[in-house]
Amino acid sequence: MKYVVLVPDGAADLPLEERGGETPLQAARIPNMDFLAREGICGTAVTVPEGMPAGSDVANYALMGYDPREYYSGRGPLEAASMGIELGAEQVAFRCNLVTERGGCLADYSAGHITTSESRELILALRECLDDEFTSFHPGVGYRHLLVLKGLKHLEDRCFPPHDVVGKEVESILPQGPGAARLNALMRLSRRLLAKHPVNRRRVAEGLPPANLIWPWGQGRTPTLPTFAAKYGLRGAIITAVDLLKGLGKLAGLEVVDVPGATGYYDTDYSAKAAYARDCLRRLDLVYIHVEAPDEAGHEGNWEEKVKALERIDELILGPLLDETVRSGEDYSFLLVPDHPTPIAVRTHVAGPVPFAIYFPQAKPDGCREFSERAAAEGAIKACEGWKLMDIFLERAGGIRASSRV
Ligand SMILES: [Zn+2]
Repeated sequence: MKYVVLVPDGAADLPLEERGGETPLQAARIPNMDFLAREGICGTAVTVPEGMPAGSDVANYALMGYDPREYYSGRGPLEAASMGIELGAEQVAFRCNLVTERGGCLADYSAGHITTSESRELILALRECLDDEFTSFHPGVGYRHLLVLKGLKHLEDRCFPPHDVVGKEVESILPQGPGAARLNALMRLSRRLLAKHPVNRRRVAEGLPPANLIWPWGQGRTPTLPTFAAKYGLRGAIITAVDLLKGLGKLAGLEVVDVPGATGYYDTDYSAKAAYARDCLRRLDLVYIHVEAPDEAGHEGNWEEKVKALERIDELILGPLLDETVRSGEDYSFLLVPDHPTPIAVRTHVAGPVPFAIYFPQAKPDGCREFSERAAAEGAIKACEGWKLMDIFLERAGGIRASSRV
């Protein structure tokens, strides 16, 4: 038996009145997802434990089978892991967004989805001026970068996720806590350095949002995780464009597969992801496929793009995989589950339940006719703890019991 886990990030949503009370999952043409629901077992899962931040990091810890309350240690260390940066005992890693400040307010959490080549120049300029024995900047992808600071006091600092405070006055949402003075000083210095940088002069001249401020948040130390192989005895790979999840996959001992053309945005190469997933499955037992586009559409409140992203995932990833496996008589099992809802109406992550469908050849369908929030709520498994879903999936589909040794 081989296993496919498909995670359309942020795909779950709330019924929208102006869309006839439907959600994007209900409105989208997704025959392959509906197939999994119709032929499999459905339900809902709570991926974000109460009181924890409703982010992709927490939710994907859970979906990989790790209880976030036990293992989660912030977003920054995951991105450090994906960049191959080893943190010392005294070091704390921060996600460092490049953002746009306008009129003293946080105008854009992504500096207009600045390109990697532009942002790299800016981060390297900051590194040149600000790096020292306590501080190091590391260029990442798009608007997502890394800041590593020495001093465990930073673990106590309170930093706002920028996509949650768009429109707010910067002075009112600056970091607070025992290490805040250092963070605020770095932010002020970045404001001065970035303002006059040629990349930003060019962006302003072209009418694009300048990346004129750093925004550090999601800090932590490297977590210690039992590997996926030790837990389930399966060799697996992860396919994602998001550094955060590459890092989590690496720390879980999964093979991290880089797919050319995977952008983490609407223009990602869906077909290439399917092809690389198929290739992984020839060599390994399990592939974890994460697709970011629906989440970006949720953050932008863009119904059309969210529906389109779901249809493309269905047509260009799930369809071909099903055709080449299950529909060719091969023994494959599928778990389809968004990591968290990113409702169009609120444009941010929420900690509510997500629908899921588990398909395996011997599955006894539970009567669900389609893959949607409403249908899954009537499914056989109700509101299970998200971190137990991998156990449930592997046990039902393949009789695999998670090792109690780890
Ligand atoms: Zn997510």
